[in-house]
Amino acid sequence: MNPNSALVLFSGGQDSATCLAWALDRFAQVETLGFDYGQRHGVELSCRAALRKGMASLQPKWGAKLGEDHTLPLQTLGAISQTALTSDVAITMNANGLPSTFVPGRNLIFISFAAALAYRRGIKHIVTGVCETDYSGYPDCRDDTIKAMQVALNLGMETRFVLHTPLMFRDKAATWELAEALGGAPLVNLILRESHSCYLGVRDIEHEWGYGCGTCPACELRAKGFARYLDSRKG
Ligand code: ZN
Repeated sequence: MNPNSALVLFSGGQDSATCLAWALDRFAQVETLGFDYGQRHGVELSCRAALRKGMASLQPKWGAKLGEDHTLPLQTLGAISQTALTSDVAITMNANGLPSTFVPGRNLIFISFAAALAYRRGIKHIVTGVCETDYSGYPDCRDDTIKAMQVALNLGMETRFVLHTPLMFRDKAATWELAEALGGAPLVNLILRESHSCYLGVRDIEHEWGYGCGTCPACELRAKGFARYLDSRKG
């Protein structure tokens, strides 16, 4: 196992893009992994290549560290979950307090597949952009869930993976601040332009905070976070 290598769960959204920069700043070798699970919109997946290319050219040392990109098909996940991300279900709050965008067990499945791939490739560190601060209350994004996953994977695979969650206790404004600390304005601009958050897959309406419909919960979260980030820079 290469102790200085990392696999980043990389969807093409703001959070995973920031995590990729974070990993490129820390580890000698970084690979990326995306999942195609029948998302209603493949927009996030198509943003991945542009983000990877952009980061590799922002800093030559990052370009030298950036290794293979993997995409795993997980259509089964879409087939068993009737949610607003994978079918034409409206984005609302369910009776159990979870939004209809919640895909049951999604992150548990993603991290399990990431670990299986990391095992094969001799990669020790697994990086994911999950966050329990101002996200939608997904229980598989909680710190305790990820810590339990790390224990389960290491027991189940007889290995020593380290799961990293650099965004766990940051809100969206703090995530922009992290991007700025890692790569300055050029990285912030790259993530603004090329990362995708909108649940509706809108890419042709541009805002100060990036592209999106502007009204879905993901756009609202992103817009508010960027506004708070700009405020904190003025202050
Ligand atoms: Zn939107």
